[in-house]
Formats: sequence, structure tokens, C-alpha cells
Amino acid sequence: MTGDFMTGMEALLKKLVDSPSISGFEENVRDLIKKELKPHVDEIRIDKIGNLIARKGKGDPKIVLAAHMDELGLMVKYIDDKGFLKFDMIGGWDERILPAMKFKIHGSKGAITGVIGSKPPHMQERDEQKTPFKAKDLYLDVGADGKNDISKIGIRVGDFITRDGKFDKMMGSRVTGHGFDNRIGCLVMIEAMKRLKGFKGTVYAVGTIQEELGLIGIRGSVYSINPDVVLALDTTISGDTPDLKPGESGIKLGSGPTLAIKDAVTVVNPRIKKWITDTARKNKIKLQYEVMDGGATDASIVPMIREGIPSGSVLVPTRYVHTPIEVADMNDIEDAVKLVVDAVKSVSGYL
Ligand SMILES: [Zn+2]
Repeated sequence: MTGDFMTGMEALLKKLVDSPSISGFEENVRDLIKKELKPHVDEIRIDKIGNLIARKGKGDPKIVLAAHMDELGLMVKYIDDKGFLKFDMIGGWDERILPAMKFKIHGSKGAITGVIGSKPPHMQERDEQKTPFKAKDLYLDVGADGKNDISKIGIRVGDFITRDGKFDKMMGSRVTGHGFDNRIGCLVMIEAMKRLKGFKGTVYAVGTIQEELGLIGIRGSVYSINPDVVLALDTTISGDTPDLKPGESGIKLGSGPTLAIKDAVTVVNPRIKKWITDTARKNKIKLQYEVMDGGATDASIVPMIREGIPSGSVLVPTRYVHTPIEVADMNDIEDAVKLVVDAVKSVSGYL
């Protein structure tokens, strides 16, 4: 059942989850990726807007593996006289889940714990209990006794607020944590770079910024590298919970990574589809095809960069995406790493 023992990949995923990193404030995850990749790559640089770009090998073909480093969070918007913080949401939140959540507010004097409080059930009218809370009516309590206390602990308007979730093992190979979207993509990228040896060409690991706000970091980084192909490594919605109908999503946990055939922006390049499909078949790696109604990844806009660069998304199924208790299967993560490593090795035949 569950236990304290962790595999190397679980331990690294825990470290990634424990590194607060919301859109616009990605340095914690970036530092960790840098540390992990350093012994395994030829060069690492941080570009002008904060993307991490690690290079391994030289010459053609050039492949980019991209994983966004940011996740959802909040930002301090207003501090009231009693010392409660009003906030703005960063990224695609379901605001109904905000009450009773715990956060860290990153002020100039370090991180402070805060909670989103709400009126206890005893004090609520019947109607109130049936109406979900709205973010604009909620507030964070950091334990302050007035506005003065807030300035003493170094919190100002514009400070970042991250979720205070943690990583836990569940039954078998299942794990839970916050920010799996996209610490899992970062983990797949790191592991693939570690395992890639003796291929011809150059592989770049790119940790992108502000994906959740509109695929911000990928544009300049891919423009500057000018690669032959880009694979975005990210998470996707697993459709195997009781509240999703099979017709809405056929994606299952434990059935391998997915290849996004279509998302809200684009349809996958046919050569990429063949490349990833052949790689999975030849190496006996499970692969699910995914047709998404909504959602996009860093790969979605890559066909619009420069003259158009072919791209695809290799995604790890995750339940409860964008909540602090996302659930994934370590076997899918391992399969995603294998798929990416084998794909990089065979890319020449598909360009
Ligand atoms: Zn994502």
C-alpha cells in the first residue's frame, strides 16, 4: 500500500512540487531544473524573460523539449485596515474550491502562511449554504492584527501567493500533489535529458515561463533556437472519474501518455503524429490519442513561430487538473520519459 519509500522520480517530483512557482515567479522550479540538468548537458542559459534553455549535443537536427515551469496562484490586490488580504487569481482557477485552502504569501521578508477563511456553517443562512463562494468576496488571513502588522512582515500589493499543497503517495503507482500541471512535464523533461545519450543532433530542454497566462515564454525561446521540431511536455485531463462521461474524454490514468491530435488552437502536424505513433509502437510504449475541446499547450502556437515549426504535445493524464490535489500515475510518467527518449533518437527519419 502506501509507504515512505520513494523512487528517484517520485523524490524529484516531490522536490518540484515543494518549489513554489507561479506564473511570473518561476525561479524556484527553474533553479531546481538547472541543478538537476547541469551534470547532464553542455550549456544552460536563462534568456532575457526568464526561460531556461539547456543544450545537449551539437549540429542538426535540433529538437526542443519544452515544459512550462509555472502554475496557478494568486496575487495580493488590496490590504484592508484589519490586515486581511484581497487577491486576484492568476491562471485558470475554479473559484469554488478556494475557501478553506492554505497558501504561502511571498513578501520581501520571506513566505508567510495564509488561509482563505469563510463564515462558519453555524452562521450561514440556508440560501448561503447553497451558493458557491465567489473569489471577489473572499480574503486571505495571515494572522495579522491590523494593516501595520502586514507591513512589518513585508507583504505588499503585487506579491505572489502560491498554494501550500504537498506531495503524497497513494495506492500502487498513484501519487497526489498540487502543481502537477506542470511539475510532471518538468520531470519528464529532466529525466529524458538525463537518459539521452549518443544521439545525433542537438536537444534543447526549455523551461518556459507564464504558459498559464497565454503561452508567453515559448514564443521567444523557440524563435531564438529555431529548431526543426518542438515537443511540449505537459499534463492533460484524465477522463476516468465518475463525474466525466466516456464521451467527454476517453483518456485513462495508467494507460500511458497521450498525444494531442487536436486542441483548442491547432491540429497536430501529420509527420509528428506518425513519428510519435511509430516510436510508441516500435518500443511497445502505451500511447493514447487525445482530441481536446478546450485547452492548449506550449506546442499549440509553435506552428505560428518563424516560417512555422512542426510541434506536438506529449501529455501525462492527470485527474483534478488545476486543483491542489491532482492525481497522476508514475507509470504514465515513466512511459512518457521512454517515449520522448526513443522519439528523439529516431527523429531524423521524420523531418
Ligand atoms: Zn500545463
